[in-house]
Amino acid sequence: MFQPVNSRVNFPQLEEKVLAWWRDKGIFARSVEARQGGQRFVLYEGPPTANGSPGIHHVLARVFKDVIPRYKAMKGYYTPRIAGWDTHGLPVELEVERELGFSGKAQIEDFGIDKFNTRCRESVFRYLKEWEEMTERIGFWVDLEHPYITMENSYIESVWWAIKQMWDKGLIYQGYKVTPHCPRCGTSLSSHEVALGYQDDTEDPSVYIKFKIVGKSAGGFSLDKPAYLLAWTTTPWTLPGNTALAVAADAEYAVVEVDKEYLILASALLGVVGLEDDKVVARLRGSDLVGAEYEPLFNPHDFNIERRRFQPNSELTLQEPDEELTYRVIATDFVSLEEGTGIVHMAPAYGEVDYEAGKDKGLDFVHVVDLQGNMMGSYPFSGKFVKEADPLILEELDKKGLLYRTEMIRHTYPFCWRCEAPLLYYAKQTWYIQTTAVKESLIAGNDEISWYPEHIKYGRFGDWLNNNVDWAFSRERYWGTPLPVWRCDACGYLDCVGGVAELKGKPGFSGFNEPLDLHRPFIDEVTFACPQCGGNMNRVPEVIDCWFDSGAMPVAQYHYPFENDTLLEDGRFPADYICEAVDQTRGWFYSLHAISTLLFNRPCFKNVICLGHILDASGEKMSKAKGNVVEPGVVIDKYGADALRWYLFTSSPPGNVRRFSGDMVAEVTRRFLLTLWNVYSFFVTYANIDQFVPASEGSLSAESELDRWIISELNQLVAEVTSALDDYSPTEAGRKIEGFVDGLSNWYVRRSRRRFWKSENDADKLSAYNTLYQCLVTLSKLLAPFTPFVAEELYQNLVGSVFPAAPESVHLADFPVADRSKISESLMADTRLAMKVSSLGRAARSQAGIKVRQPLAHAIVSVSSPSERRGLERLKPQIIEELNVKELEFKSNTEVLKLDGQGYVVSGVEVDRGKGVKVPVSGGVYNVAVPTEISPELKAEGLAREIVHRLQTMRRSAGFDIADRIVAYYQGDDYIGHVMEVWGAYIEMETLSSLIAEPPVEGVFTASYKLGGYEVLLGVKKLG
Ligand SMILES: [Zn+2]
Ligand SMILES: [Zn+2]
Repeated sequence: MFQPVNSRVNFPQLEEKVLAWWRDKGIFARSVEARQGGQRFVLYEGPPTANGSPGIHHVLARVFKDVIPRYKAMKGYYTPRIAGWDTHGLPVELEVERELGFSGKAQIEDFGIDKFNTRCRESVFRYLKEWEEMTERIGFWVDLEHPYITMENSYIESVWWAIKQMWDKGLIYQGYKVTPHCPRCGTSLSSHEVALGYQDDTEDPSVYIKFKIVGKSAGGFSLDKPAYLLAWTTTPWTLPGNTALAVAADAEYAVVEVDKEYLILASALLGVVGLEDDKVVARLRGSDLVGAEYEPLFNPHDFNIERRRFQPNSELTLQEPDEELTYRVIATDFVSLEEGTGIVHMAPAYGEVDYEAGKDKGLDFVHVVDLQGNMMGSYPFSGKFVKEADPLILEELDKKGLLYRTEMIRHTYPFCWRCEAPLLYYAKQTWYIQTTAVKESLIAGNDEISWYPEHIKYGRFGDWLNNNVDWAFSRERYWGTPLPVWRCDACGYLDCVGGVAELKGKPGFSGFNEPLDLHRPFIDEVTFACPQCGGNMNRVPEVIDCWFDSGAMPVAQYHYPFENDTLLEDGRFPADYICEAVDQTRGWFYSLHAISTLLFNRPCFKNVICLGHILDASGEKMSKAKGNVVEPGVVIDKYGADALRWYLFTSSPPGNVRRFSGDMVAEVTRRFLLTLWNVYSFFVTYANIDQFVPASEGSLSAESELDRWIISELNQLVAEVTSALDDYSPTEAGRKIEGFVDGLSNWYVRRSRRRFWKSENDADKLSAYNTLYQCLVTLSKLLAPFTPFVAEELYQNLVGSVFPAAPESVHLADFPVADRSKISESLMADTRLAMKVSSLGRAARSQAGIKVRQPLAHAIVSVSSPSERRGLERLKPQIIEELNVKELEFKSNTEVLKLDGQGYVVSGVEVDRGKGVKVPVSGGVYNVAVPTEISPELKAEGLAREIVHRLQTMRRSAGFDIADRIVAYYQGDDYIGHVMEVWGAYIEMETLSSLIAEPPVEGVFTASYKLGGYEVLLGVKKLG
C-alpha cells in the first residue's frame, strides 16, 4: 500500500516536511559523499554579500546554480559545493557610514579606522541567518557550514600571494593617470565599476565660453578689435583648470565680426552657435591658430592655486607666479567638428585626453578640486561641490563678459555604482594591474569558455576583453584586503609581500600584534628595514578592489598555495560551471577570468549561465522606492519553493530579461505542479484500491498501444532532458517535462481511466498500473534537480515504501537513462495525429451543439496519406472512445468537406464571408465530420451517460470513497423509466451502485436535474 495522497495538496507544508527529513538524514552530504570516486564536477559559488536581505534575483541565481550540480550528482559526478561570502568593499563601508550618519572619510578617520572596521566586520553577516534560511528553503544545496569568507586571514593571504605573483611579473604599477573618482566615497573606481553606473538622461549645463586672445593678431589676421576663441564644455567646474585650447590643424576656422568684437570658431559649426548669418571677416586654418595665446579665465595664482607644468620626463614641476600668465592654442587629432565649436577646452587634471595632451605638449597643470569633489583655493565658489559650483562659475564668467551662451543638455554620464554620486575624472596616483599585457591571452582563453546564452561570449564579454584597459585596483578606503606593498620612507623603494611568513621574515620586522588581523589599521603598524638603504618600510595606505577578492576565489577559497598545493592538478580547478546575472560580465566573470589568466594563463571556468534581469509584472525594474519589490519569502510561503523554482526555470530562457509576480507563480502551480499532483494522486488512489504491487522498479511489458506510446514518450523525454541539461539548458529540459506531463494527464490517464476503473484485475489493468507507475517514478527522478521537494515526495511514496533496498532519497538515485529500443517514432507520430483528429472531432461536436457524452453513430475523417490512415486505424479504439462514436470512417478531404451542412458538421470549416464558399480554415487536409442526427437508441444511451456523470459527481460531493458501494435512488417520468430499463445495468456498473426506482428517503444526498429535457431526481446513499 502507498501512503494515501490528498488531492488538495499544500506544497509549502509538504516542502517543510521534506526539508526536515533531508536535514535529519543528511541527504545533501550523502548525495555528495555517495559519488566520491566519480569524476569531479566543480561549481564556483559567486559570493554574495550578506549585509542586506536576499531578493528574488538572488533566488534566481541560486536555483540555476543548484539545478546543474544536482543533475550531475545523479549522473554519478562527485560535486562538493562550497558556499562563499563576499565581505569587503565599498558596499559594506557605505552601509556602516549610513548607520553612523557619516558623509565622508574625515569622519571615519576621526571615529577611528579600527572601530570603523569592527563595525564593518559585524555588519557583513547581519543578514547571514536570512541568507542561510533562504538558501535552505529554496533547496539550494551548498555547504553553508564550511564557506569561504573573503575577510578571513587565510583568504587575504592567498590574495596577497596572487598580487605578489603579478608584482614579480612586473604587472603592477602605480600610475599618475586620470581615473574615474567617486567624490563621495573618496576613491578611484575601476573601468568595470564605471561600466555598472552609467545613467542616461543626465542633465548638465552646455556652455560656450569666450577666451580672450592676447596680442594684435591671430593666424596672420590682424585684430583691430578684442578677439575671442569660442570653446564649449559641459563641465564648467573644469574651467578654472583650463590651461590650453585645442583645434584641428586641418579644419577651417572663421573670424566672425559680432558687435564690437571678433569670435573665432570652426566654420563648420557656425550654425550650431547661431552665427551663420554674421559677417565672416577672415577664414583661417587650424594650424594658423596654433601658438596663439589667450588670457586665463581664472589666473590660478590669484586664487591660491598651484600651477605645475609637464616636463619632458612627464614629471610635473611647480611653476612660479608669472606676471602675465598666458595659455595657448595647440593642435590635436581628437577635436570634433560634429559638436561644440571646433575649439576644445583643455584641463589636463580632469580628462584622459587632456592629460595625455598635457604630457605631450608640455602644458600647465592646474588642479582646483579636492578628493571630496569640492573646489579648492580662494575663488568666490571655493568650498562648493563641483556640481554646485557650476552655476557660480558661470556667473563669474558672465560678470567678466566671457560667457557667450548657456543652455542645458541631457546626456549619458557615469555615476558611482554604489552611492550614485557623479564620477569625476581626476589625475591622481592609482595602483594598476597591467591586464593589457595579457589581453591576447584573455581573448584566447575566452574561446575555451561556453557561454549560455552564446551571444555573450563574443558580444558583451568579448567586447569587454577587446577594449581591455589596465585594472585600477587600489582603493583609498578602509575595509578591504590591504594592498601588500611597503614603501621606504627614505629612498622610495617598493616591496610587495606575498604572505604572512614572508612578512615576518623581513629584516627589522616589527609592529605585528597577535591575534593576527591582516586588516587596517593593524597591518599599517607593520614596518621593516629597506633592503636598499636600511630606511623604514611602511605600507602604502590603499586597500584593493573587492572584485579582486571575489575573482581570486579559485585559489583563495583553498588558501592556495599555503595549503592544498595540488589544487591545480586534483580536479578542483578550473570550475565546470558558474552562474550569475549578466552584469557580472564586467564584474565577477571578468575578475575571475583576468586573475586566472594573469596567474596561470588559462581560464578558470568552462561553462557559464548568464542570467537576465528580473522585472516586475508590468516590465518595470523592481525598486524599494517604487514599492514593487517582490519578497521571495512571501511567494515561497504561499506557493512553495518548487513552484517558484519551476517558474524561474521554465518561464523564459536564463539569458532573457524576465517578468515576475506571485500570480505568474500561481499560474505555473496550476498548470504544471497540480497537473502532476493530480496524476500522482489518481494513481495512488486506484493502486491502493486494487492493492497494486509494482513487480520491480522499471520492469514491465506494455500491453496496449496506449501504454507503448507513453513509454515511448517517456524514453524520448529522458533522452531530451539529458541532452538539454548536458547543454546547460534547464529551461528547455523543463519545458519538455511540462509537455510530457500534459500528455500524460490529458491523454494517457484520461484515455486509461476505464482501465483502472474496471472491476476485473486483468493483464490490461496491470499493464496500465505498471505503465503509469513507471512514468511517475521516472518523472520523480527527472524532476529531482528542478523541483527537489515534490520529486522527493513522489519518490518516497512510490519507491521508498515498496522497495526498501532502493536508494533512500531520489537525490541519491541515478538519473534515468533512456531505453531507445522503447522509442517508436511512428507510434508517437500516430498518436499526435489521433490527438489532433480527436480535438477536431470535439470542435465539430461543439459547432453542432452536441455534448461529448452523447454517443454518435460515426465520425468521418480525412487525413493526408494512406500511411497516416494506417496509423490511425491502429489507434481507432482510442479515437472512437475519445469522440464517443460507434465507428470511424475515412474519406478524402473533398468528400468530407462536401458533407458539411448535409446532415453533418465538419470541423474547421467556415464560410468565407467574401465569396460565400466553404473552406477549411484550420486543420487543412485533416477534417472530421460528425452527424447531426441522433437515433432514439443513441439518445437513450446519451441520457444514461449523463445520469452516470451526475451520480459520480454526487458520490464525490457526498464524500464517498471511490470504492464505496452505494444505493442510487431515482425518480422521473416514463422516458426515464425506459432509459433505466435499457441502461440500468450499465449505470450500476459505472457507479458501483444498486438502482432503486423510488424517491430518495430521508437523510439521503439528493439532487434534481433536467437532462435532455426530462426532469430527474437522484439520491445516493452509502451501503452498509
Ligand atoms: Zn561612491
Ligand atoms: Zn630605502
